[in-house]
Amino acid sequence: MESVNPYKERIARVAASIKANGSDVIFVTPSADLTYLTGYSALPLERLTCLAINADGKSWMIVPTLERPSAEAHDIEQYGIELLDWSETENPYAKFANAVGQVSKPLVNNLMWVEKALHIQDAFGSSIELANKVLSDIRAVKTGQEIAALHEAGRAIDSVHSQMASWLRPGRTEREVGRDIADAILQSGHATVDFVIVASGPNGASPHHEVSDRVIGANEPVVVDIGGTMPSGYCSDSTRTYVCGQAPKKYVEYYDALAEAQRAAVEYARPGVTCESVDTVARNILKDHGLGDYFIHRTGHGIGMETHEEPYIVSGNRQILVEGHAFSIEPGFYIPGKYGARIEDIVTCNATGIDNANNTSRDLVSL
Ligand code: ZN
Ligand code: ZN
Repeated sequence: MESVNPYKERIARVAASIKANGSDVIFVTPSADLTYLTGYSALPLERLTCLAINADGKSWMIVPTLERPSAEAHDIEQYGIELLDWSETENPYAKFANAVGQVSKPLVNNLMWVEKALHIQDAFGSSIELANKVLSDIRAVKTGQEIAALHEAGRAIDSVHSQMASWLRPGRTEREVGRDIADAILQSGHATVDFVIVASGPNGASPHHEVSDRVIGANEPVVVDIGGTMPSGYCSDSTRTYVCGQAPKKYVEYYDALAEAQRAAVEYARPGVTCESVDTVARNILKDHGLGDYFIHRTGHGIGMETHEEPYIVSGNRQILVEGHAFSIEPGFYIPGKYGARIEDIVTCNATGIDNANNTSRDLVSL
């Protein structure tokens, strides 16, 4: 069981991974990666804040002097990280290079701003490479505490979906409904609202539609995909499809096929199978019902401190699922100009199967 402050151990695992990778240091600027490694969720701004971990497990963090109190409040030094700060007139890169010393094969976190990555390359005089799997493989396999946090997030977003009848009705715009949903996401215990999709009628054919001023009509399917981040730092993401009245007969037929595809993929997913095979299970059922061309995205994505992270449930990804993986299973169909649908659950792998973090009805809910 992991301690309350897991950061020391995470830094040690990253150091071991850097070594195994043949690199000697990794640089990490503010991002989910930095929060995961230190608990410090600094904003990614123009001034340099950066963590360095070398292959021997030694670590440094440089922050602007004005942010030093904030870094200290996050107990950075207690995890064995040497804290440095730079004043407004100093060159932070030169100062950092002086502290960290010679490096020959530096890695940078994938979401580092290019500007900062190039300055690091110049200051250390070595070509940078992307951290890629060094960080994502560690973050993708969640501990018991992280899995519990994802299930807590799942319960919170479920409570929002179960109140949909209070807001979603014909005559209101998607934006009005979206505002009510956003308020409810915060009331349900989330710290932030990350996205609210209310896609009515033909808008449902665009998977990443957000909200618009379109007035929701009677008997129209409405795709509602919502998520936020909990105070724990872990994210929720769940889609249900609703109809105010009675959906067209053909649509109900398609929806039944989608529900079958989603259920089959959830029943199939477990440790030991590949990510791509979960996608295939859902996709084959939709193909059998003539909907193959209308399922235009992968079946799912990993989730944790970011809504989208590894592992991706997509054709071509032969990665094997293991205990601790957390990801979405969200097949859909999108018929341009007409309508669309998606059913999305977050699931987490236990030793032999999966646990579902979302448990509201997956039926086409008539309001
Ligand atoms: Zn999703
Ligand atoms: Zn979603």
